[in-house]
Amino acid sequence: MSENENSQQPPLPEQPPSRKKNFKCVKELFVDEVHYKLSWGKFNRIATMGALADRINQLPAPMGTLSVNKCCQYLWEMSRKMGTDELATLQKLACILFLLPDREGPSMTCRMALMRQSFKVVNSLEPMLVHYFSKLFLDYFSGSSSSSRCHVLRIARFISVHSGIGRAVSVCLLWHLIFSYAETPIGIHQYRELGELRILSNVPIAELSNTSFRCIIRAVGTLLHLQLCCPDLNEFLYHGYPRIFFRILPQDVKMLRSWLLNAVATTDCHHLRTDASKLQAMLDYLNVPVLSRQWCLVCRDASGDVIGPPRTGDQCVLSQMRS
Ligand SMILES: [Zn+2]
Ligand SMILES: [Zn+2]
Repeated sequence: MSENENSQQPPLPEQPPSRKKNFKCVKELFVDEVHYKLSWGKFNRIATMGALADRINQLPAPMGTLSVNKCCQYLWEMSRKMGTDELATLQKLACILFLLPDREGPSMTCRMALMRQSFKVVNSLEPMLVHYFSKLFLDYFSGSSSSSRCHVLRIARFISVHSGIGRAVSVCLLWHLIFSYAETPIGIHQYRELGELRILSNVPIAELSNTSFRCIIRAVGTLLHLQLCCPDLNEFLYHGYPRIFFRILPQDVKMLRSWLLNAVATTDCHHLRTDASKLQAMLDYLNVPVLSRQWCLVCRDASGDVIGPPRTGDQCVLSQMRS
């Protein structure tokens, strides 16, 4: 999260001829992927026909033939000069590369670095900008299949860690996910009061697959963490976000507790209980009859101001859903 990280480039391993086989080219990365949104054809169209077309045509070789690491590094370097439309396109490309298989492969570090950079390079939390990035992302990635939803959740969880704008977009993606389970469209992607989670009562829990059940529990848990801990709260306030987004009212904690109780009673699958019990622990933490438990009292002080760097693990109960 420090400024210095901004100027660091993703590591680019040199490729001695003998080991060249270990480094896939961009096109090869798509071979084992079946999801249509993660196809080479779609990726190539976004790259060569969208806002980045001019820049991508100037690459030293066709994009598909570059090694994944080289491609990520070129895009990473270009990102510093990009305008808003170009960045939105870069984010889409970076997300596709990030979601592709071969996660254990040598290119994953570069793919993750590019993904972080495509958000981090944006130096603003302007609500309309957050809406714009969220909308463009969701126009492409959202869908009602559980695989689409799982992709949105994976992205949201990843980008929420490394930058303020990533956190802001992440919050919007999570709200979108929750509203989409409740089959309620969202017009403007923005922060919302956590009381709006009452929409969860419209989600047909009994009809959800195990994957979707897990996805919605994780979305709710991650959302609570992002809005109630929020390491860059001051910047959000500076950009006009009201404080009410960064707290939860006692009656809403109670509402979530009874929703969760019902949801867990509805599912019979035991391995889903782990995530549900994490969420339960978070809600237990917030459920004290003291007014000041409206946010995380490890990450923030009694008046709601941020205490220091983000806490994790045992210290901050609300960060449990991170792992
Ligand atoms: Zn997936
Ligand atoms: Zn916290």
